[in-house]
Amino acid sequence: AKAAGRGRFRLYREGMVMADTNPYALMKDLEGAIGGGQFELHYQPIFSLTDDRQTGYEALLRWKHPERGMIPPDHFIPLAEECGQILELGKWVIERACRDAATMEPALSVAINVSPLQLKSMEIVDVLRRSLERHGLEPKRIEIEITETAGISSAEVIAVLKAMRKLGLSISVDDFGTGYSSLSYLTMLPVNKLKIDRSFVHDLENRHECRALIAGIVHTATSLNLKTVAEGVEDEVQLNLLKMCGCNFAQGYHLGKPRPLSANAGIRHLSKAG
Ligand code: C2E
Ligand code: CA
Ligand code: CA
Ligand code: CA
Repeated sequence: AKAAGRGRFRLYREGMVMADTNPYALMKDLEGAIGGGQFELHYQPIFSLTDDRQTGYEALLRWKHPERGMIPPDHFIPLAEECGQILELGKWVIERACRDAATMEPALSVAINVSPLQLKSMEIVDVLRRSLERHGLEPKRIEIEITETAGISSAEVIAVLKAMRKLGLSISVDDFGTGYSSLSYLTMLPVNKLKIDRSFVHDLENRHECRALIAGIVHTATSLNLKTVAEGVEDEVQLNLLKMCGCNFAQGYHLGKPRPLSANAGIRHLSKAG
């Protein structure tokens, strides 16, 4: 009851639920949504800024609600976390992303978002191992995106992340710079990449501080032997500034929007992106 109360507060405070939608009705609808085949993964391309070639995709979850239409993840992931459905949904995402990755060019990897709740148990490692095996996928083809939360450096989570790395998967810290304030966790977690939050990229042109901040993140990453990925690149100016900062990878509407798998074909080059 305590957890539900906290969730209710969070939902309303952040305005994540659509005005005309009762979150409890939506939560109820979630129960049958996986079995009903209502989820889809869309894929947004990620490019190397060193050679402008596509290196992979990020898998982004979509809910095609039979009455309400397409519901974005920010509207239902918090609900799924609240009612516990996120564990089953998270398994579905892993299995589908691995299945899709196996149909792509072998040079492309797929980044999967996972909820902090999925990192509390070793089960996710078995789910990943089984999906990789089922689809004959090399582990390096899958990347796991985690977010900075207060529990991220707990012994349980570190053990799960280490087991993922042992499997051969790569781990990225999503929305880097927006969450948990202490950087010390970076030295404890077995991560490979930092994803620079799009709020910093957005203000890159106008705010000198953002440029300094991104340069600082790239510097930190380099000294810790990590790579950087910039999110939310919406124009050429941002792209060039990110290259100047030494950022390794980028994604954003300017480079390619999230699309169903069927709409994505082959490895793309930045000059042909769109
Ligand atoms: P995220 O992981 O930070 O994903 C990036 C979000 O930015 C996506 O929103 C993407 O569509 C959007 N985006 C990409 N390029 C641009 C751009 O140039 N400009 C702007 N303004 N936005 C851009 P989306 O797809 O609505 O996903 C929202 C969040 O939902 C994700 O944020 C992630 O935290 C969560 N999410 C998505 N799929 C999953 C999933 O399978 N599992 C879990 N646990 N969370 C997911
Ligand atoms: Ca992400
Ligand atoms: Ca992000
Ligand atoms: Ca996010």
